[in-house]
Amino acid sequence: VIEATGINKSFSELQVLKDVSISVKKGEAVSIIGPSGSGKTTLIRTLNGLAVPDTGIIKLDGENIFFSHPDQPRSRRLPRQNEIKKIGMVFQQFNLFPHKNVLQNITLGPRYHRRGSKAQLETEAMGFLDKVGMLEHAYKYPHQLSGGQQQRVAIARALAMHPKVMLFDEPTSALDPELVGEVLKTIEVLAREGMTLIIVTHEMQFARRISDKIYFMDEGSVVHSGSPQDMFDNCDEPRVRQFLKEFN
Ligand code: ATP
Repeated sequence: VIEATGINKSFSELQVLKDVSISVKKGEAVSIIGPSGSGKTTLIRTLNGLAVPDTGIIKLDGENIFFSHPDQPRSRRLPRQNEIKKIGMVFQQFNLFPHKNVLQNITLGPRYHRRGSKAQLETEAMGFLDKVGMLEHAYKYPHQLSGGQQQRVAIARALAMHPKVMLFDEPTSALDPELVGEVLKTIEVLAREGMTLIIVTHEMQFARRISDKIYFMDEGSVVHSGSPQDMFDNCDEPRVRQFLKEFN
């Protein structure tokens, strides 16, 4: 579904992504792990246009979302909004609209894009709220909800746009420990249902359990990628070993 090839990205002097390539097939759950500052967040932000690469190619279903070849500096293009709309994103900080209730938060995007009548979209939104276990909170405002509940609403909001891929940027790192489980469980259900997912996470057991493939990044590069077993049990790369040891 998503293929990113040769992505480079610098913030002034600092090269944050160095020739990074990842590919994710339909129905796969892919995790990106690695030390703080290794470029994981920046990488997934390039996939949905929140960060623009300096060079590289990003394709969604074979269509270029972004294309900029190093030998053709004038080829640099801005990400294509029509394609990016098909990619859902869930952020660390939930980012719900504080003055809208839960139901309005979910229907806002679909209504803006005229995906159906108000009644249709509300009915559909209730379905997504049910899926994330938040049906009874439909008329509450974000400040009346726990962080875990807000994040589940954010997941429902992303789903309501019928994305081809869902991106999760450290979805549980802003949560109190006792709320992490409910959010991970919600994501796990999506993975089991065959949703295509890309998740930046520091939850190693979770990544191991749900991923079809894991990428390990360090200092802006993909150092290793493979199945969970490959990453956790069979990888000899010292940086991977060292990183995983710190989680045990
Ligand atoms: P973490 O696990 O801590 O979130 P990460 O692997 O997701 O880390 P990034 O957030 O992608 O790493 O950051 C990679 C590097 O890029 C860091 O050194 C960060 O300070 C830098 N960086 C990220 N965004 C910007 C920006 N907008 N301007 C300047 N530097 C940035």
